[in-house]
Amino acid sequence: MRGSVLYWIRMVVRGVLILLALATPSVAAPLTVAGNAGRRITVEVPAAPHAPISNTLVLERCRGGCRITKGSNDAANSVSTIPAAAESTVDEFVNSAGMTGALADAEWNAVVQCVQEVYSPFNVTVTDARPANGPYHLAILAGRPGNVGQGNDILGIAPLAGDCSPQNNVISFSFANQHSLVDPARVQTLCWTVSQESAHAFGLDHQYAFSDGRSACSDPMTYRVDCGGQRFFRNQSATCGENSARPCRCGTTQNSHQKLRTVFGEGTPITGDPTVSITLPTATSGFTTTVGGTAGSKRGIRRVELRLNGAGWAEVAGLPFGMNGQDPNGTYSMQVPPGVPDSILDVQLRAYDNLGAFTDSGIVTVTKGAPCTSADTCATGQQCEEGKCFWEPPTGEIGDECPYAQFCKSGLCRGTSDLQVCTEPCDPAGTNTCANDLVCIASGEGMGICFVEDGSCCSVGSGASGPWVHGGLAVAILAFTVRRRRRR
Ligand SMILES: [Zn+2]
Repeated sequence: MRGSVLYWIRMVVRGVLILLALATPSVAAPLTVAGNAGRRITVEVPAAPHAPISNTLVLERCRGGCRITKGSNDAANSVSTIPAAAESTVDEFVNSAGMTGALADAEWNAVVQCVQEVYSPFNVTVTDARPANGPYHLAILAGRPGNVGQGNDILGIAPLAGDCSPQNNVISFSFANQHSLVDPARVQTLCWTVSQESAHAFGLDHQYAFSDGRSACSDPMTYRVDCGGQRFFRNQSATCGENSARPCRCGTTQNSHQKLRTVFGEGTPITGDPTVSITLPTATSGFTTTVGGTAGSKRGIRRVELRLNGAGWAEVAGLPFGMNGQDPNGTYSMQVPPGVPDSILDVQLRAYDNLGAFTDSGIVTVTKGAPCTSADTCATGQQCEEGKCFWEPPTGEIGDECPYAQFCKSGLCRGTSDLQVCTEPCDPAGTNTCANDLVCIASGEGMGICFVEDGSCCSVGSGASGPWVHGGLAVAILAFTVRRRRRR
C-alpha cells in the first residue's frame, strides 16, 4: 500500500542501491564509504493535530550512552516508537579517530555549527544542551543502528507524518558511529544526515531534482551524491524521490525552505552575505564588452547581475555545485548588452544567494563611446547628467505596467505587445506566491512567471520584452500610465 510503512521503506530501499553505486567517490583518496552508503529511512507515524511546535532542536551526542525507552513518542523523556527493544542504549558519538568525550569535542562542535547554519534561516534554535523541560525536538547523532535494532545499512531513521505535518517532541536517529571514519567530508556528511532526519520529523520528504532540472544534491533532503559540500534547505521547488523523481507525499513538488519557514517562521541566516569582486573592466582597461569577476557564498551563489549606473542590465546563473559544493571563488562573466547607450558607466557586479541576500562589488568607471550630452541618446526613460545615462531608482511594483525592465523593482518586465507588467519568477506547480493578485503562468519547463490571470504571457518570441532587454518597442507605450492591475 502506498501509504503503508512497508511501501515507504521499499521506496527508500530502491533508492539505496543507486546511492551505493554512486557513493564510490572518484575524487577522494582511499576511502571506505560503507558508512556513508547506508540508508536514511523514515517511519510513518499517524498524523496528529498539534499545537504550535517547539522551536528548539536539540542535538544529542549521548555522553556515556543514551537510554531510550520504547513507547509513545516523547523526546523530552527519551521515549520513542522506533527502537525494537523495550529499553535500548545508544552509544556515545565518536569522532573520526573513534574517540569519545573531550577528544571528540572539536568534531562534534563542527557538526553542531554546521547544523546551526543549515537551520539558521528559520526561527529554530539548534543546541546541544537539553533544556530542563520539554517539549523539544531531539536529534540523536550518535551510536549505531544495532543499538535500536536496525540493520547495519541504516544511517538514520526518523518519524514522518503521513500528512507531512510537523511532529512535536519526537526523536530522530542519525547513527553517527556508522558513518565512515575516513570520509574526508565526515563533518558535512554527518550534518547532512542529521539535517535530513530531523527535517523528516518536521514533515519533509526526500528531494530529487529542482524545477530548473538541476539535481537536488545541494539540499539535505537528497539521496543524491552528484554534488557535495554543505547542503542547505533550498528556496526552490523540487520533485521528490530517492533514485528517480516521483510525486511528493504531500503535493506535486516540495520547497524545503518554504516548508520549514511555514513550520517555524523566519530566522536570521548566520552564513553571511555573498562575496563578489569585479576584475574586468579595470581602472586602466577602459570600456570592455565583457564584464567579469568572482563571486562566492557559503550557501551558494544563485545569480550574478551586471549593473551599469545603478541599474541591472544582464545576469548569469550561479555555477553548478560540484563534489565540494559550489566554487567559493567562482568566475562569472557576461557581455554588455547591445542596448547600452554611449555614456560614462559605473560598472558593478551584484551577487545574490538563493535567499535573495546580495552584495555589490566595487565600482569601475569607464566611458563607452563618449559621455552623453543629452537624454536623447540614452535608453528609454533615462536621463543624462554629467555624461552618464541613468534611470531613477525603480518604482514599479509587481503587477504595475512597465515600459522597460529597469522600471521594475524586480528588474523583470514581461508580457505581450499589448501589456507588460513588472513580474517575478514563480513555480507553476506550487502554491501561488505571486503578489498583487497575479497568478503563476508556465513559461517553460518547470518555470513560471507571475502575470495577470487572463493574460497569455511570455512564451519566447511573443514579442515580450524579456528581462534586461531594452526594447525599441517601448516607444509605442511611452505614454503608459502606471496603474496596478488587479484580477480576481
Ligand atoms: Zn531520509
